[in-house]
Amino acid sequence: MLKFTCPDCDENVLECVEIYATVSYDITHLDEDGDFDYGPTNIEDGEINRFQCVNCGYILKDNNSVLTSNDEVIAWLRKNCNQD
Ligand SMILES: [Zn+2]
Repeated sequence: MLKFTCPDCDENVLECVEIYATVSYDITHLDEDGDFDYGPTNIEDGEINRFQCVNCGYILKDNNSVLTSNDEVIAWLRKNCNQD
């Protein structure tokens, strides 16, 4: 298993940020006052925009190009984070 260590803040959690996603949910209660209740959220058709540190927002880049694929992230982790 590969480990992520943020170069700026030493956080170990990496997050994936997607854009252009469609978000939908069932409306489980239609109140006359307009106070609706909602079921679980469904997210579809997103496009990966970036990978970043969950704590400080450090964005993973290689040669100034933002990483957008898992393969690029694996290569970056091997090169930039201590895996011992
Ligand atoms: Zn960080």
